[in-house]
Amino acid sequence: MTLPPGFLDELRARTPLRGLIGRKTRLLKSGRNWKGCCPFHGEKTPSFYVYDDHFHCFACGAHGDAVTFVMRADGAQFMEAAERLAGLLGRIGSLNNSGERLCRNSFVSR
Ligand SMILES: [Zn+2]
Repeated sequence: MTLPPGFLDELRARTPLRGLIGRKTRLLKSGRNWKGCCPFHGEKTPSFYVYDDHFHCFACGAHGDAVTFVMRADGAQFMEAAERLAGLLGRIGSLNNSGERLCRNSFVSR
């Protein structure tokens, strides 16, 4: 299974990273970014920062984008993570331009 060109870029651009990560850990505003306790290692002082397009933990070095976050947080494979994100965004129908359905009925469409 291949992804349509530009699919991942669009997925990354459209995913509200703060909303996605905010489901796993509580985020506090820090300047124009957000910070919270890292969901990937136990900590009491927030060293996990969320930026517009990526996250970074200054304690354990966890780093990545929306797809990476779902992979690490949910233990998902790359494609699974991409599908899950696409499902969250409700964009399945319009992403079906490679002649192949990206996801099945388990995902809500708009
Ligand atoms: Zn960490």
